Amino acid sequence: MIYVTKTFLPSIESYQLYLKRAWDKVWLTNRGELTLELEDKIKQKYSTTNLIITNNGTIPLQIALKLLGNQGDIITTPFSYVATTSAILWENCTPVFVDIHPEYLSIDETKIEAAITSKTTAILATHVFGNPCHVEEIERIAKKHNLAVIYDAAHCFGVTYNGTSIFNFGDVSTCSFHATKIFHTGEGGAMFCNDENLFQKLFYSHNFGHNGPLEFHGLGINAKISELQSAMGLAVFDELDFIFSERKKVVDFYLNHLDFTQISTIKIREKTQWNFSYFPVIFNSEEELLKVQNKLNESEIYPRRYFYPSLNTIDFVKGEAMPISESIASKILCLPLFVGLEKQDLEKITTIINTTVAC
Ligand SMILES: *Cc1c(COP(=O)(O)O)cnc(C)c1O
Repeated sequence: MIYVTKTFLPSIESYQLYLKRAWDKVWLTNRGELTLELEDKIKQKYSTTNLIITNNGTIPLQIALKLLGNQGDIITTPFSYVATTSAILWENCTPVFVDIHPEYLSIDETKIEAAITSKTTAILATHVFGNPCHVEEIERIAKKHNLAVIYDAAHCFGVTYNGTSIFNFGDVSTCSFHATKIFHTGEGGAMFCNDENLFQKLFYSHNFGHNGPLEFHGLGINAKISELQSAMGLAVFDELDFIFSERKKVVDFYLNHLDFTQISTIKIREKTQWNFSYFPVIFNSEEELLKVQNKLNESEIYPRRYFYPSLNTIDFVKGEAMPISESIASKILCLPLFVGLEKQDLEKITTIINTTVAC
């Protein structure tokens, strides 16, 4: 059976070598040496701003919204994973959707200003499938209207834009290190932040608000990662070059073998060094998508409908109609993409798709 993704596992020996350090120190959490080393390695390799590794990729969104959202209206994208919207609701803020660009699939920056009101406090946009939003224009709008900018960069590990890590944009940028993501710690995530003041607030917020053992800076929660997870992260980190090059081969295969007169895929923004995180295919209709999905399933191939449904249509969300996002969500399918996906399987996948859409 072939699924949309398959968790990358480093050799168990390399994982054990890192784990042994936690054993030797008898230290399993509270920002131990493995966590600090992983933060440092990410910062060095990608020249990112300060970061804090967390226990998943959702809690950084909640912490950022807690500090910057002020229970106001948050301008956001309807085309993302549900966590982007649910974090807004969870923090007692209100999502205000702005439709997406039909090719880049990220929030349409030209429609943001019309959605801003006196209740708007922040913009929370997703670099969907690792494809950067129009960060310059979003920054301009945010400055003009005194809004905070939070990026859900869950898909963005390794992405650079205009020569710098995409994590360096926005007031806060978050990532997910979930087992299904391109770089992972099993469960995990991170928040990145340029501003020293805000960084300190994010830092104490992720550790119960502590200021030393007896005092508190303010309200906090527990978003700490364990050393067991950071050990996995360090072992995966050592394989990153291999992971990216293997994923690139799969993406190149799809680009060379799928019939793009019948279907389309995401358009990656200019000046982006992409990370091959997902391979979405957009069909002409939902009917065509379902036909292809059925054919693939018959061969035990299980792509995923990322992202469906459009988040504005979920019943607990109650957003306004978003025609482009709803249309794309109804006809987009993410194809299998992982290290170790065999050429013969790729041939099978592309042949099924090409022949099914042609008839
Ligand atoms: C995976 C994902 C998240 C949540 O990350 P977790 O680590 O699973 O909590 C948030 N936003 C997007 C866009 C995601 O794909």
